[in-house]
Amino acid sequence: MNKKSKKYFSEAKQILVGGVNSPVRAFTAVGKNPLFIKKAEGAYIFTEDDQRLLDYVLSWGPCILGHAHPNVIQSIEKTIKNGLSFGAPSVLETQLAKLIQEFMPHIEKIRFVNSGTEAAMSALRLARGYTKKKFIVKFNGCYHGHADPFLVAAGSGNLTLSKPDSEGVLESTSQYTLVCDYNNSEQLTHLFNENGRDIAGIILEPITGNMGVIPPTETFLSTLNKLCKTYDSLLIFDEVMSGFRCHKNGAQALLNTTPDITILGKVIGGGLPCGAYGGKAEIMEKIAPEGPIYQAGTLSGNPIVMASGIATLTELKNTKAFETAEQSCTFLCEELRKQLNKDHYCIQNQGTMFSLFFKKGPIQNLTDVQNCNLKQFPKFFHALLENNIYWPPSAYEACFISCQHKAQEIQHTVKTVKKSLSTIQN
Ligand code: PLP
Repeated sequence: MNKKSKKYFSEAKQILVGGVNSPVRAFTAVGKNPLFIKKAEGAYIFTEDDQRLLDYVLSWGPCILGHAHPNVIQSIEKTIKNGLSFGAPSVLETQLAKLIQEFMPHIEKIRFVNSGTEAAMSALRLARGYTKKKFIVKFNGCYHGHADPFLVAAGSGNLTLSKPDSEGVLESTSQYTLVCDYNNSEQLTHLFNENGRDIAGIILEPITGNMGVIPPTETFLSTLNKLCKTYDSLLIFDEVMSGFRCHKNGAQALLNTTPDITILGKVIGGGLPCGAYGGKAEIMEKIAPEGPIYQAGTLSGNPIVMASGIATLTELKNTKAFETAEQSCTFLCEELRKQLNKDHYCIQNQGTMFSLFFKKGPIQNLTDVQNCNLKQFPKFFHALLENNIYWPPSAYEACFISCQHKAQEIQHTVKTVKKSLSTIQN
């Protein structure tokens, strides 16, 4: 099995760093070779070895309509005939911006970029430029892309002494990122008591996906809001993953919270590279050319990407695609909860995302995730794969569902998860 993938991987490793263009794809956390994918359709991906896999990764979230949705493909095909890139305004940018605003009315103005990373790093510059403050607060386990200020870990002992979490990140950069535990209001309050006047903003995944699906507690959420108000810091919701996934209108609607800046990516590009950041006009107007904060991009607002995003969001707006995916996700999670031993497993889900944690719940922060029985995960992953289910190849990642995951797929998943868990116990 996977003979071709093996061969292609060894070829790729000769020329591509680690054989991949994003580390998690190398399957390091689960061992064995990564699978090479030759096509994807609906809820399935197809490997070079012709294995058809039910996909719970969905390109790490974007493909909420399933792969190669006909309307998205059609929209791209129509647009592509008119040229690939103009480096000049097109009406498609305004159309996608307005669509996003319909879903997230707090976004008064928006700027498109090419990835979530770019959106997060630009939002951070905006927060600093707008508030004229240096520090940013982030949370352990939340991911905001790979820009320097976010590759930072909490220093031991002293909360305010952060350190680089990657070689190549300077301490002079990491020192301005303060790191705190998710859902820990006391720590956060302490951090603000010490540094509040210098904090430009708090950035967080309002419902996390990068350490699995974890919602904020009510106390945590109200503390975030209160501290931002008291200290004139900006509340920055990184909805690259949660937007159009945890709730059709973003986690901000679900949590009834108005962030100052929202960061988007993934679904808004429908599978093509796209990111965006937006928020209150008064803040966004500080960006060039309206204001003094510089940010630009040769391919930003690319017409093909915009066409893909427009088709995807139009589908979410005009059909029950989101609701279908959400129902499938809820049903799957309820069935799994019925079948699995609560003392050993916990399922957490929101909208069209879910996580199976190898530990008694609830899971509230990164420490809880790290205390899961992580050793079981690689075996579980491969047991699923043998039964044609493609789960994210890392215990820390959330699973994604599309509107093409129908009853038949869900039934198969419930049975296979149960079987795989019992196999790996033996
Ligand atoms: N923010 C969040 C919440 C993400 O999940 C990700 C990627 O997974 C990013 C930012 C970075 O986005 P990208 O990979 O498009 O740079």
